[in-house]
Amino acid sequence: MLSHRAKVLIIDDDVTTIRMMADSLSPDYEVIVATAAEEGLRQARTAQPDLILLDVIMPQINGYDVCRRLKADDLTLKIPVIFVTALDAVDQQTKGFELGAVDYITKPIEVALLHARVRSHTRLYQQTLQLESLAATDPLTGLANRRKFDESINHEIERSHRLQTTLSLLIVDIDDFKAYNDHYGHGKGDDCLVSVARLLKKAALRGTDLVSRLGGEEFGIILTDTDRNGAQVIARHILDLFAEAAYPHIKASMHPYLTVSMGFVSIDFANLTDNLPDERALIDAADKALYRAKNGGRNRFCYEPWPGDTDIEKWA
Ligand code: GH3
Ligand code: MG
Ligand code: MG
Repeated sequence: MLSHRAKVLIIDDDVTTIRMMADSLSPDYEVIVATAAEEGLRQARTAQPDLILLDVIMPQINGYDVCRRLKADDLTLKIPVIFVTALDAVDQQTKGFELGAVDYITKPIEVALLHARVRSHTRLYQQTLQLESLAATDPLTGLANRRKFDESINHEIERSHRLQTTLSLLIVDIDDFKAYNDHYGHGKGDDCLVSVARLLKKAALRGTDLVSRLGGEEFGIILTDTDRNGAQVIARHILDLFAEAAYPHIKASMHPYLTVSMGFVSIDFANLTDNLPDERALIDAADKALYRAKNGGRNRFCYEPWPGDTDIEKWA
């Protein structure tokens, strides 16, 4: 079963058409409407509908341009669009498909056809979203998985470069986890990973922070618009949360409770002296710092300076 009632956005300048479609669909769908293109684009971004019924002929901005803008925006790109066209306007219908629409319906609107098309496309879209979410999730912890991490970090590098903002990457590795498994058993080890995931999520609260399980007992946290100081605050918070939680780990080398070590790197894209970094370079740098944190005695974080950092001395 699909989880929620599908949401349909109707963008049409003709109030009679809107009312007719909305009345017909509202028993089965959550219907939202817009009578102008700009309003429709705004609604699409904020309401995240499962389907858009888009009129072709509208004053000021026509349906084709609305569709182009929907497809050019990350937030609305995947939402299926059905064009509402004149009955025998084959050229309009063809053009709609070329712009990325999934289907069309013709005016005057046949209620049965409207329902059939809306049902099949909203279902398909919701199923696609569910599959995408499954493919991006680590089943044990519910965190983003490595695949999602890879996708996001590349996206964030590009975005930070474009907007000339800062980006930090924090890698977290559980200390003496082999000993934990050996002593408490693999099942308890799994439970422990779930608890760790929960603590990390608690530390990285912003909607744009991405906490992911990179594999085994290693986690990656992507912190967008976060400089070195911001990343350091989060790292310290993580250490505090583990100290507070004090999950017993009597075989640990340093403390009788579970701890983590972390390495992080921060890039200020406005002061970048080198080429645009890639994912590999970022992970390698954070890993280097993690290695130092481990060698330095665990239960701590280290920072790896990035070429172009102006106040490295402070951090060396
Ligand atoms: P260090 O402090 O240097 O990080 O030592 P460590 O023991 O944490 O690191 P090591 O890489 O030697 O061991 C990692 C252990 O993590 C080995 C493996 O048993 C455990 N592990 C990896 N994935 C899982 C998992 O999915 N479930 C459980 N229970 N254990 C896992
Ligand atoms: Mg119209
Ligand atoms: Mg470890």
